Amino acid sequence: MKFGLRVVFKFVVKLLIGTLWLPIALYRRGDGVRILCYHRVNEVPWSRLTVSTAAFQRQLAYLARHHSVVPLQAVVDAFQNGHVLPRRPVVITFDDGYRDAWLNAVPLLREFRFPATFFVATGLVGATHVGGTGRESCADELMTWDEIRELQSAGFEVGSHTVGHPILSSVPSRTQQREIEESRVVLHQMLGRRVEAFSYPSGSSGDFGETAVASVIAAGYRCACTTIDGLNCRGGNLFRLRRSNVLNEDTMLLFRYTMFGALDWMSVKDSVVGRTCQRWFRIVFGY
Ligand SMILES: [Zn+2]
Repeated sequence: MKFGLRVVFKFVVKLLIGTLWLPIALYRRGDGVRILCYHRVNEVPWSRLTVSTAAFQRQLAYLARHHSVVPLQAVVDAFQNGHVLPRRPVVITFDDGYRDAWLNAVPLLREFRFPATFFVATGLVGATHVGGTGRESCADELMTWDEIRELQSAGFEVGSHTVGHPILSSVPSRTQQREIEESRVVLHQMLGRRVEAFSYPSGSSGDFGETAVASVIAAGYRCACTTIDGLNCRGGNLFRLRRSNVLNEDTMLLFRYTMFGALDWMSVKDSVVGRTCQRWFRIVFGY
C-alpha cells in the first residue's frame, strides 16, 4: 500500500473507531497520567514519525489550556512516594534524538515552559540515521553530544534508548543487558548526570520481554517507557509505562481523541491477536 494511502487509511480507522469509543473513554476518564511519544518535528511530508511544527505548536497550546505538563520523574515520584500531581497531568517525550526535534520542538517547548524527556541511542549520537524510508533520508540527522548537553542545560531530561537501537526481543539476553547498561554508563559519562529513564526501541509488547525489563531494573533506571497505548495509574508498572504515539495522521481532532483516551483501544495492536492481524495486513497490502 502506498505511503499516502496508508496515512489516510490509519486516519480513517482512528477517526471511526475513536468516535465510537469516545463515549466509553469519557465515561471511564480517570486520574491517570498520559505520556505522549513524539519522534520528529519538521516539514518533511509523508514521514510516518513526523509532526509538523505548526501542528506541534497547536498541540502544545491545547495542552496549555486543558492539561498540566509535568516532568516524567515527577510522575515516578508521585507513583513511588505518593506525591500529589497537578490536575490532568501529561508528560511529553521524544524518542531517537532526531536533530529536528532539537531545532523545531525545543524552542516551542521553551516558549510554553514545558518539561520533556528526550530518549537517545548513545551509539547513534551525531549520526545520519540510515533507517526509515527514502523519503525521510534527506533529514535523518540525529543530535550531537553538544546539542544533547545544551538540551540538558536547558532543563530537559535525557534518557536512554539503548546504544544501537536494536529491537531487544530479537537479540540475545547478553546483548540486551549490554545495550541497556552501557547506554546508561555512556550517558552518565558524557552528561555528568545519573540517567533515570529508559525507552524500549520500537516499544510494542512484541519488541521487548521480561529479560529487557529485568535488565532495565538491574541497571538502576527508575522507569521505562513502552509505546503501548493507554493511561498510567498509581500502582501500575513503572518499567512498562504506557505512551500515546503522536504521528503524521493525527489531526487536531485525533489529538483531542488521544487526550480523551478515545484512541486507547489501539493497545489491542499489542495483543497476540493484534500482532497477528498486523502481520497479515502487511502481507496483504505490502506494508
Ligand atoms: Zn526509537
